[in-house]
Amino acid sequence: MSRLQQVTVLGATGSVGLSTLDVIARHPDRYQVFALTGFTRLSELLALCVRHVPRFAVVPESLAARNLQDDLRAAGLATQVLVGEEGLCQVSAAAEVDTMVAAIVGAAGLRPTLAAVDAGKKILLANKEALVMSGALFMQAVRKSGAVLLPLDSEHNAIFQCMPGDFARGLSQVGVRRILLTASGGPFRQTPLAELERVSPDQACAHPNWSMGRKISVDSASMMNKGLELIEACWLFDARPDQVEVVIHPQSVIHSLVDYVDGSVLAQLGNPDMRTPIANALAWPERIDSGVAPLDLFTIARLDFEAPDEQRFPCLRLAREAAEAGNSAPAMLNAANEVAVAAFLERRIRFPQIASIIEDVLGLEPVVAVNDLGAVFEADTKARALAEQWLNRNAR
Ligand code: NAD
Ligand code: MG
Repeated sequence: MSRLQQVTVLGATGSVGLSTLDVIARHPDRYQVFALTGFTRLSELLALCVRHVPRFAVVPESLAARNLQDDLRAAGLATQVLVGEEGLCQVSAAAEVDTMVAAIVGAAGLRPTLAAVDAGKKILLANKEALVMSGALFMQAVRKSGAVLLPLDSEHNAIFQCMPGDFARGLSQVGVRRILLTASGGPFRQTPLAELERVSPDQACAHPNWSMGRKISVDSASMMNKGLELIEACWLFDARPDQVEVVIHPQSVIHSLVDYVDGSVLAQLGNPDMRTPIANALAWPERIDSGVAPLDLFTIARLDFEAPDEQRFPCLRLAREAAEAGNSAPAMLNAANEVAVAAFLERRIRFPQIASIIEDVLGLEPVVAVNDLGAVFEADTKARALAEQWLNRNAR
């Protein structure tokens, strides 16, 4: 490779951010860190800066920025600290940047991710909420700028690997019948329904196969994560919701499959470790070592599959309905879910109330067209306000 690829990692202190930096550190001949960002745990951001020596670091507010800047100077680093969403957009779109890793959680990642899209960068997308909120506008912006959008979500990266290179022509044109999106079923796959009323945030975050941030862990427990991923898959692969089938596969070894009209079904397998999709997307179309151990099929011994139970997991149904309704529905779904998950993590509501909040919020507001980003944020704001009202009326 002729020169080092400059990489910005948004959400560097999080689970995906740290896995990304682990892969990058294995390949100093290929990648150089341009910018790292964090929102909390800023002492960890400092340690990451010392380790990776980025040109820029971004933090949420100016007092934190001054403190980090002082600490960086004391450590002998020339890293410049920027502040807030403006700083995030700047390090996403900077002329020097080749690749932007979107690993912020939630709606907060939308504007910075779109900044990289508009600047025509290579974008490694973990922040599914950004795409779910703004799907059509996001994909239009990708086409307009010529940005290269590569999925980090393990399922979507698996689908990407199983698709023919020219899938953008349309699924029916390339002989794809459907996408089989696998799901572990999370920690509550077999928990008696009545017990779900009493599960704690820590139980919800104890995922059987993956170690992840708390928001996506709760989403995995409610299967809203799979619902968001269904919407994500529709946008990434230009699929209709009825072309994406969710398959529960508790071992999380098959990361998803593509079903072709000739009866061939291609799957991508691997140990459940985000460094595999990260390395795949970073080096695409080449392959690099990720640090992940080889898959040992003899230890795994068996692979199981079952159909999802929408009574147990109403969030999956709500997401499918939002995918079918399109327009403002996915942004409202996502916003209501973010508020509900935060309330559950703060122990303000019980686990099954996450779905109740979302269902009630979506039932209160008509679906409207979203022709610009302003309309997306309007839908987001409205759903958050309705969810907060629900909490004030009904919590606990
Ligand atoms: P995490 O909570 O571990 O990390 C989130 C990162 O975003 C942190 O660096 C945090 O400081 C930053 N952040 C949080 N709120 C912010 C805000 N308002 N403004 C700016 N930065 C903010 O989360 P994660 O598990 O790494 O997940 C990140 C994203 O990747 C999510 O969208 C998630 O759905 C997706 N994802 C994660 C995994 C996984 O294995 N963890 C797998 C697939 C997809
Ligand atoms: Mg996933």
